[in-house]
Amino acid sequence: MIRIGSGEDIHLLVPGRKLILGGVEIPYECGLLGHSDADALLHALSDALLGAIAAGDIGHLFPPSDPSIKGIDSKIILKECLRLVKEKGYRVINVDANVVTEAPKLKPYILPIRESIASLLGLDADCVSVKAKTNEGCDAVGEKKAIRTNAVVLIQKGDE
Ligand code: MG
Repeated sequence: MIRIGSGEDIHLLVPGRKLILGGVEIPYECGLLGHSDADALLHALSDALLGAIAAGDIGHLFPPSDPSIKGIDSKIILKECLRLVKEKGYRVINVDANVVTEAPKLKPYILPIRESIASLLGLDADCVSVKAKTNEGCDAVGEKKAIRTNAVVLIQKGDE
């Protein structure tokens, strides 16, 4: 059986924070604001994994109101979501994700991000697509005040 899941996220871009996308730290004057390390790409991907097994969302699993997970590495969130997918007998087939940001330009970091996600999911990098695009200057993303992400994931149980 094949199932599909999708996820999306948005975080504010502010000074004084690290910018981490897909588990990769990207040099930039601002970073994403959040209760965790605010890795909006891993959050969208984690929600896609949960969506594929109809298991709710990461806000339910890792509530922002929980002080014990303040600053949590989003790789831990992703790995827990992957564990739940595997627990149901599924494996991940491929990932396709988008990062919408006016700045910084992500082209030099796309391959490291794909390799990082592939490593976290136990996939080959050619099964992980990450695309970067701008918001054509529109709204908060276009004004460099936020980064938006989305991800789609396909999972399979058995060979059919
Ligand atoms: Mg988030």
